[in-house]
Amino acid sequence: MAIRTILRDGDPVLKKRCHPVTRFDRRLGDLLDDMKETLGQAHGLGLAAPQVGILRRAVVVVTDLDSNEMLELVNPEILDAEGEETGWEGCLSVPGLWGLVTRPAWVRVRAQDRNGDWFEAEGEGVTARCFCHELAHLDGHLYTELCDRLYTPEEVDRMEAEAEAAEAAEAEAAAQAAAEPETEGAARPDGQAEEDGQP
Ligand SMILES: [Zn+2]
Repeated sequence: MAIRTILRDGDPVLKKRCHPVTRFDRRLGDLLDDMKETLGQAHGLGLAAPQVGILRRAVVVVTDLDSNEMLELVNPEILDAEGEETGWEGCLSVPGLWGLVTRPAWVRVRAQDRNGDWFEAEGEGVTARCFCHELAHLDGHLYTELCDRLYTPEEVDRMEAEAEAAEAAEAEAAAQAAAEPETEGAARPDGQAEEDGQP
């Protein structure tokens, strides 16, 4: 196994459409092994063959974030998709930047394994996002095409903190709104609670 160099955005290889894999030989196995090792070392969630300069339809996707389990997909295609989810997305070929991308909340894919046997796999949330992101690489597309703008990690942190604060304030307001009429209503069923209850 070997670590391969990950191409950066701007490299023309990343814009090309990949060819189907037709030979399920040792070379393909070596490529997939290298891709997994490269992905693991880069701490990414997915890697497509064109990102390491190979114009073949093969990707690896992390399907379990806790165990870092990876799935190899050769000649993958999306069979079915449901729902919509907008979330942060990054790419090992666009290091240090993040974008907000809307993807299906759930997808089912069909692919071949390294021996050429077909199988189906499902993914939701981040895994569905990963399947879509990696499969797009095989057609020469980067997630950045789907974003209005890209954000630095600091900007992402700030936006996340702001969103959390807004959510907390909203939850607090909702809790207050829910609590007030109930106590007042119980004390004064005549509806005078608000006038009389306030000093
Ligand atoms: Zn990518």
